Amino acid sequence: MTDDPATLWHATAAALPAYPSLSGPAEADLLVIGGGFSGLSTALHAAEAGLSVILLEAHRIAWGATGRNAGFVVPNFAKVDPDAIRAKLGTKAETLITMAAGSGDLVFDLIRRHAIACEAQQVGWIQPSHSEAAFAKAQDRVRQWSALARPVHLLNAAEVTALTGVNGWRGGWIDRSGGVLNPVGFARGLARAANAAGVRIHDSSPVTGLHRHGTDWQAITPNGKITARRVVMATNAYVGDLWPRLARSFFPLQVFQVATAPLPLSVRSRLLPEGQCVSDSRRNLFTFRFDAQNRLISGGMHILSLGAKARVPAAIHRRMARFLQLPDLPPLAYQWSGMAAVMPDFLPRVVELAPGLIAGFACNGRGIALSTAMGQQLADWANGTPAEALALPLNPANPIPLHALSRLAPNALLPLNIIRDGLESR
Ligand SMILES: Cc1cc2nc3c(=O)[nH]c(=O)nc-3n(C[C@H](O)[C@H](O)[C@H](O)COP(=O)(O)OP(=O)(O)OC[C@H]3O[C@@H](n4cnc5c(N)ncnc54)[C@H](O)[C@@H]3O)c2cc1C
Repeated sequence: MTDDPATLWHATAAALPAYPSLSGPAEADLLVIGGGFSGLSTALHAAEAGLSVILLEAHRIAWGATGRNAGFVVPNFAKVDPDAIRAKLGTKAETLITMAAGSGDLVFDLIRRHAIACEAQQVGWIQPSHSEAAFAKAQDRVRQWSALARPVHLLNAAEVTALTGVNGWRGGWIDRSGGVLNPVGFARGLARAANAAGVRIHDSSPVTGLHRHGTDWQAITPNGKITARRVVMATNAYVGDLWPRLARSFFPLQVFQVATAPLPLSVRSRLLPEGQCVSDSRRNLFTFRFDAQNRLISGGMHILSLGAKARVPAAIHRRMARFLQLPDLPPLAYQWSGMAAVMPDFLPRVVELAPGLIAGFACNGRGIALSTAMGQQLADWANGTPAEALALPLNPANPIPLHALSRLAPNALLPLNIIRDGLESR
C-alpha cells in the first residue's frame, strides 16, 4: 500500500479507508484510470447514468495533483477569456465557456448534494491587479464573464484592500461563484459518493498495460485484469509510461505549496476577513488563503529543479511575509509539491486515443472546478456522446514539438517574468 503524500490536506481531511487492490479478472461498461477529480467525477456521473464502472488508482484516492493543490475553486480559465476562446474555437466555444462558467456552482452543488465535509466555502475568488494594464484587463474580464450572468464584480484599490487586508494592488475583480475547500476532503467525498452509486474502486492498482480485446479494452494490473467497453484515462500529469504520446502532449509543471502554523486571531482577522482565496495578476503569481485552522497557504514554482525542494518553500515563506507585511509570520508546518498539466493555450483537452479510449487532461491550474466539470463530459462520452460533441476541445494527441526542451519553458521564463512583473507594478 502506498502512503498518502505529506500534505496539509491529507493530514486534516476526514479519513477514507483504503479500497482493496484489484485481484483477479473483472468486467465493466466503463473503466476509469486515475483517482483524482477527473476520474472520480467521471465515475460518479457515469454510475449515476446507469453504467457499471470500475475505477483503478495506482496509489490512493487523491494521491496526484488532486491532493496536492491549494484548494482554490476558480471557475474560469488561466489567462484566456470568452472572446479569445470564441476567436480560437468558433462554434465549439460556447459549450466550453458555459462549462467553465458553471464549474464553481457544480463543485459546491456536489458538495451539498452528497453532504461532503471538506471545509467548503463558496465565498469567491479574487484576482487583484498588479499594474494599470492588469486592471484594464480585469475590467475586460468582468465585462466578458458578466455577459454570461456570472456573479463577477470589478473592485477598486480600496475594495481590494478591504477584502484582502493588503495595500498596493491597483484594483482587481472577484468571481463570487468560486471559493475554497480542502481538496482531499472533496475528493474523498466524491469517492464515497461514487462508491455508493455503485462504482467499484481499487487503490494500489496501477494499470501497467492497455490492449484492444475484440471491440473491448483490457487493462492489466499486477494482480488483476479488467475488460471494459470503454476506458477513460484520467491520469493527467501522472500518466507516466502508460501512453507515451499522451505524456508528450502537455507541459508537466511542478508546483510547490506551503502552509504555516496557525496565525494568532489578532493577525488572522486583518487578512481575508470573508475567507476568499487570492491569486494576483502577476506572471509569477502571488497566491494566498487560510484553511479552517487559520494556517496561511501559498505556492510557487522553481526556476531550477536541482535543490528546489529545500529552496522554494523557504522563498515562498519569505514572499508571504513581505507581501502580507507579517514580519512575525509563523514557520512552515507543511510543504509539498505536485505536478500540474499545462497547455500552451491554457485550455483543457480531450483526446480520443483510439476507438473506445479517451483521455481528459490539462485543466491548467483550474482543475478543482474544471476537472470536476470535465468528468461530467467524459461520463457523457462513456454513455454514447461522440467525442466531437463534448464541450472540450478535441486534441489529435499530437505531441508538442521538441517536448523534451519546450517543457522547460514555463520554468526557464520565470526570471524574465519576475523582472517584467516588477517593472509593471512600479
Ligand atoms: C501544487 C498544485 C497546486 C494547484 N492548485 C490548484 C488550485 O488551487 N485550484 C485548482 O483548481 N487547481 C489547482 N491545481 C491543479 C489541479 O490540482 C489539477 O488540475 C487536478 O487536481 C487534476 O486532477 P486529475 O484528476 O485530472 O489528475 P490527478 O489528481 O493528478 O490524478 C491522476 C491520478 O492518476 C493516477 N494514475 C496515473 N497513472 C496511473 C495508472 N497507470 N494506473 C492507475 N492510476 C494511475 C495517479 O496516481 C493520480 O492519482 C494545482 C496543481 C498543483 C500541482
